[in-house]
Amino acid sequence: MSRTVEELQEMVATLGKAAMGIGRSDLASQLRIYSLSLQRGPGEKFNAGSVHWSEESVVDWLGLFQVPPYADQCPIRPEQARCEKCVASPNPRAYLHVDTLADLPSGRARKCRKCGAVWLERRTRQ
Ligand SMILES: [Zn+2]
Repeated sequence: MSRTVEELQEMVATLGKAAMGIGRSDLASQLRIYSLSLQRGPGEKFNAGSVHWSEESVVDWLGLFQVPPYADQCPIRPEQARCEKCVASPNPRAYLHVDTLADLPSGRARKCRKCGAVWLERRTRQ
């Protein structure tokens, strides 16, 4: 990961547009603040409640919003799926700690509390 501030700001702007597109102006406002803080350097992070904005999480969210070319890197799993990275953990309960990041039109954004993996959970129920 060695993107420039300009590249990151462009990604943040794309993500902000995607957030506005689904009516999540709250995320878009957070992203505007994060984008401004990036002027101090690409390693800058911004915590807004439960969402921690960084280069890594911007990439995660671009995947969750299924923005090309990041759409493919976000796995789509069935409802109640466990973290595939942690399922083989020696601690049998490790993979159970999964948070919901957001409800998106494309599904539910999920994040493993243990390893930080994100995926999109496809809704199967009406
Ligand atoms: Zn995990």
